[in-house]
Amino acid sequence: MHCPFCGAKDTKVIDSRLVADGIQVRRRRECLSCTERFTTYETAELVMPRLIKQDGSREPFDEDKLRAGMLRSLEKRPVSVEKIEEAINRIMHNLRACGDREVESLIVGELVMRELQKLDEVAYIRFASVYRRFKDLNEFREEIDRLEKEPQHSTDHLKSSEQ
Ligand SMILES: [Zn+2]
Repeated sequence: MHCPFCGAKDTKVIDSRLVADGIQVRRRRECLSCTERFTTYETAELVMPRLIKQDGSREPFDEDKLRAGMLRSLEKRPVSVEKIEEAINRIMHNLRACGDREVESLIVGELVMRELQKLDEVAYIRFASVYRRFKDLNEFREEIDRLEKEPQHSTDHLKSSEQ
C-alpha cells in the first residue's frame, strides 16, 4: 500500500505478527521514501459471509454492529465482557461454519437470540421485542411483494383504486 504520509508506492514490512487469536496479521511498515512508520491490520475478507438483507440487498458482516446490538440489550445487566465476547465469537464461528458465502441476515438475529437466552433473560427479552417487531415488518413487506407478483388481473382493482 502507499505511504499514508507521503504517498510513496514502496513500503517495507519491518515486523509482522499474528494477533486476535491468529485471525489477524499486524504489520509494522516503513516508508522507503520518508521513513515514516505505520501499522496495518490484515484479516481475511472471506472469513465472514456477507449478509442478505430482507430486501435482497447484500452487506458485509459488521462485527461492531453485532456487538453494539448485543450491548444495547445487555445494558446494565450483570454479564461480564468476557462472556459477551465469547458469545460474539460463537455467533461468528457459527456463521463461518455454515460454509456459505452469503447468509440471510435473519439467521444472525436468530443466533443472537440463542446466545442472549443463555446469557441473560432480560437482555434476551429486550432484544427479542425489538427483533420480532422488525420481523413482523418484514413479513408485512413480503406479503406486499407477494401480492405485487400475482397475475395482473388480481391487482387491477388495486391499481384503479390508486388513480
Ligand atoms: Zn512516506
